[in-house]
Amino acid sequence: MKFVFVFFLSITCSFSVFAQEQPFQDWLAELRGEARALGIGDSTLAALDTLQPAARVLELDKSQPEFVQTFTRYTSLRITPGQIRRGQNLLLEHGPLLNAVRGKYGVQPQYLVSFWALESNYGSATGGFSVLQALATLAYDPRRAGFFRNELLTALKIIDGGHISAKAMSGSWAGAMGQLQFMPSTFDRYAIDGDSDGKIDIWNSLPDIFASAANFLSQSGWRGDERWGREVILPDDFDFSMSGTGTRKTVNEWRDLGVMQVSGMVLPIADMQGSIVLPAGANGPVFLVYSNYRTTMVWNRSTFYALSVGHLADRLTGGPQIQRMPVDERALRREEVLELQQLLNDEGFDAGSIDGILGSQTRTAIRGFQAGSDLPMDGYASYALLELLRAGLH
Ligand code: CA
Repeated sequence: MKFVFVFFLSITCSFSVFAQEQPFQDWLAELRGEARALGIGDSTLAALDTLQPAARVLELDKSQPEFVQTFTRYTSLRITPGQIRRGQNLLLEHGPLLNAVRGKYGVQPQYLVSFWALESNYGSATGGFSVLQALATLAYDPRRAGFFRNELLTALKIIDGGHISAKAMSGSWAGAMGQLQFMPSTFDRYAIDGDSDGKIDIWNSLPDIFASAANFLSQSGWRGDERWGREVILPDDFDFSMSGTGTRKTVNEWRDLGVMQVSGMVLPIADMQGSIVLPAGANGPVFLVYSNYRTTMVWNRSTFYALSVGHLADRLTGGPQIQRMPVDERALRREEVLELQQLLNDEGFDAGSIDGILGSQTRTAIRGFQAGSDLPMDGYASYALLELLRAGLH
């Protein structure tokens, strides 16, 4: 589970980065009192005694990527031939366990292995931060104090429940834990003791890890008899204003509009609802995505993430690579996104605040500009689009 937060604040290595007026130890004393009132025991609360905020956590939280991530780069880092081979081997190795989990929760094994790959590289990259320290740092910082305070209290509850020791509770700088990178609140709601040893261990126990992932997905609406989606080809006259998850049609309706399988074959007859997703704009690959794609976005709201989970699951079971991957996609720099948003606003297309984030409002503004300029309305922030806006050619 990843959280994306962006702020304009300078990075320093002193604790002057905290806008918080209250000294940390006073803040911690209050938190301890609140935790005690929730019934958390003194032996668990002792883990707070030596806690100090971590400058590195704030530094990572406030860092800004220089470039906007592109689909090409995102997938090239995560879906490599080595990753696919490794996942195929793990699928075989853990076949009996994965099939048992499927029997109970109805999630196909290749998807469980794919989530596992995307979250922690099959358990090899779970983050080396102390979850208590990371969450305390972010809860003390006033920007999103409420959210992280709740996560910190929930982490203490998990330790108090005897599932893991405070020392062994490691995770990402944002407090995402173990091989699934569950936040404490997600653990609290969905994690499962798959091997029935009395502890839920999403750091080390594969039965617990697979059952927890499958339970989350099942509770979020996963359909075990459906695929996630597929790469498709659009007809030349496709109306791009129908792209995006805001438009749903049945597979039959998309077929009638001329959408085809990437192989050139017609789509199967099906009443499943699907949407057209364009992660690299009108010139990149096109995906028809179904209900399980939407469920994947409950896990992680990133389009790239959800497409990667589905595509990797396909590759693990022998599916083809993405056919229409752009070869030379030019990633926008952060300052170019700011410029793009300013130009859209100047032209009367409301891109919202100039924040450097390509969110839904910026995409809607791009579509407005594209509609008025007779361009394919894919809502995609390409470098070519920025150049058109700069030149005022529309
Ligand atoms: Ca267990």
